[in-house]
Amino acid sequence: MKKVILIYGAPGAGKGTQADLLAKKLGFYHFDTGKYIEQTINDPENLKSKKFQKEKAIFDSGKLNTPSWVLKDIVIKNTKKLAKAGVRIVFSGSPRTLFEAFGDEKTKGLIETLEKLYGKENIGILYLDVKSESSVFRNSNRAVCSVCGAPVLYTENGAQTCPFCGAPLRKRSLDNPETIKVRLEEYKNRTQPILEELKKRGYEINIINGKPEPFKVFEEVKQKIN
Ligand SMILES: [Zn+2]
Repeated sequence: MKKVILIYGAPGAGKGTQADLLAKKLGFYHFDTGKYIEQTINDPENLKSKKFQKEKAIFDSGKLNTPSWVLKDIVIKNTKKLAKAGVRIVFSGSPRTLFEAFGDEKTKGLIETLEKLYGKENIGILYLDVKSESSVFRNSNRAVCSVCGAPVLYTENGAQTCPFCGAPLRKRSLDNPETIKVRLEEYKNRTQPILEELKKRGYEINIINGKPEPFKVFEEVKQKIN
């Protein structure tokens, strides 16, 4: 079985849900870059620094954070720690830009770092395919728990409280219609090209229909990574 999985797909394709399932069922560590960023920029200690204030403003607008900052301070740092501990990792939507994926003359990107840490043959790429209308619908209809952070899916019928801990749900600031549009554009222009480059480098992109219920999608995910 692959030891590192990168899951791609537009916002709302269900990347986080599949990554959570891989974590719960197959012992992967779900590396959620967005969550790492959200935690980092909302930490009052960090917000004393100008750099972090700037990144928070970018994040809240729906744009992608500064790639060099994400790559060094968030992704590489935490990946190395996990690899050292021998952990299998699933990335949901990371790396998000060509630079984060492949770096430049000065900086190693995540792909090269992973190849070194885990071996190319142990890296699997999945692409969850959904139409952009359903992506918008899913994003505008989802909520997260205000206490434990559990995601509540777009299919659930107007639930007001978290099914896990009972706390009130909240909408993510990222999920208002304007921000969703920005995120879709950002995805198309800056994230999608990574898949092309991965193909050139000899990776197989495993395309999975992201439309069915998550547990059905997961059946296919399991097949592909074995
Ligand atoms: Zn909860």
